[in-house]
Amino acid sequence: MYLYNSATHKKEEFKTHTPGRVEMYTCGPTVYHFAHIGNLRSYIMEDVLEKYLRFAGYDVNRVMNITDVGHLSSDADTGEDKMLKGAKRENKTVMDIAKFYTDAFFDDCRKLNIKRPDVVQPATGCVDEYIKIISKLVETGYAYLAGGNVYFDSSKLARYYIFNDHDEDDLAVGVREGVEEDQNKRNKNDFVLWFTKSKFEDQALKWDSPWGVGYPGWHIECSGISMKYNGEYLDLHCGGVDNAFPHHTNEIAQSESYLGHPWCPHWFHVHHLNDPAGKMSKSKGEFLTVSLLEEKGYDPLAYRWFCLQSHYRKTLVFSWENLDNAAAAYAKLLNRIAALAPEGEVNQAVFGEYRERFLRQVGNDLNTSMAVTAVFDALKAETNDATKLAVIGEFDKVLSMNLLEKAAAIREKAAQATKSGGGDYVITGQGDPEIDAKVLARYEAKKAKNFAEADRIRDELKAQGIEVTDVKGGAAWKRV
Ligand code: AMP
Ligand code: ZN
Repeated sequence: MYLYNSATHKKEEFKTHTPGRVEMYTCGPTVYHFAHIGNLRSYIMEDVLEKYLRFAGYDVNRVMNITDVGHLSSDADTGEDKMLKGAKRENKTVMDIAKFYTDAFFDDCRKLNIKRPDVVQPATGCVDEYIKIISKLVETGYAYLAGGNVYFDSSKLARYYIFNDHDEDDLAVGVREGVEEDQNKRNKNDFVLWFTKSKFEDQALKWDSPWGVGYPGWHIECSGISMKYNGEYLDLHCGGVDNAFPHHTNEIAQSESYLGHPWCPHWFHVHHLNDPAGKMSKSKGEFLTVSLLEEKGYDPLAYRWFCLQSHYRKTLVFSWENLDNAAAAYAKLLNRIAALAPEGEVNQAVFGEYRERFLRQVGNDLNTSMAVTAVFDALKAETNDATKLAVIGEFDKVLSMNLLEKAAAIREKAAQATKSGGGDYVITGQGDPEIDAKVLARYEAKKAKNFAEADRIRDELKAQGIEVTDVKGGAAWKRV
């Protein structure tokens, strides 16, 4: 596979420390609020990457943290702990907030077919690891104590701005909007490894440490958790592009200083999903969630499809119109797959040829829009339906769009409609089997002259924002 590497600023052949095995790490969510669909764009693309690597034959060990402590409202270690902010907002304990939003995050992931990583580790569960690393950094002179906190000394490194070709001043913490300079820092890019001097006396979670009772900084958690579960040599580190600086830069600084050798050669950063008004952000409080998409009647997988259509290294702009287009394209695709007849024998030569091409095309910097195109190409292939279905099923191991399952459900429903007498009644909609079923129920009520029931169903659909129009030989519905 060829993958763009933010550490070298170029597309490179992806190689691993141990042949055939990928040690992969993903920065997990900060669980003080629901994940927004921008966060989930990053997790969708990382999920596709993991599935592609498995599809290509790698054995993958994927590790993810859950940030439940230490992430302050500014990434530059100032402001309030985000978890505490969430707890205050909802009048709950930090642990309650963490549990609730961790569960909510994995619910969203399930709806979007994002696989749960092999290891999911809350940051609060690995404090001993951080203390071990920080102790060594203090001993070896990479870290110092000032004003009650332990800081990493960025001046001890020959190379610090690994992801950026920018000027040091462009990235300097002091010039970033709304960030106040911490007077304890010896150098402006030093960062906190361990806080004992919280500005907030009511910091909820604290642990004993050689430097006093306190809590870990945000950056150390990813190094500690990765080293514990991925070992000393990480192959691939992922996150959204905003994580590159300072979070990932700091992870590299502390990990390599601790280990004494290079840590992770390959860095994968997903660019942002923006709404037309700008960047989507949790801290602003107003953002789009998977639940909101569902409330508006969208299948969450339509959002996954929307994400797959564009490249992870391009900013993606969200609009309802764009989502509608993706939902309609997905529904149309499902109907086309449903029209294929599953009977017959798979042509292994054609299957192998399509698989090979998919591997090559998608393996060119995770080209997911090519993966989408590949499904349409398979539909047009000069081969029998059984082979087309097998090829599409194979691609779906990476895409995870439930293509075969949903198409089979449509096929099944059509067969049932025939049995129940609605055989010639054709429903044209946006590929939502539940809505189709209600439209069919309305038709059957009308046929049975139960007009009250038919009207009730129509009103129910209307309340869901669905408009049904009777057309020749059936009905058409759309979201309004
Ligand atoms: P957080 O929960 O804020 O720690 O972020 C979780 C993940 O979402 C991180 O990998 C971020 O880099 C990523 N992220 C944050 N905002 C966006 C966005 N608008 N679009 C895509 N990814 C994002
Ligand atoms: Zn991280």
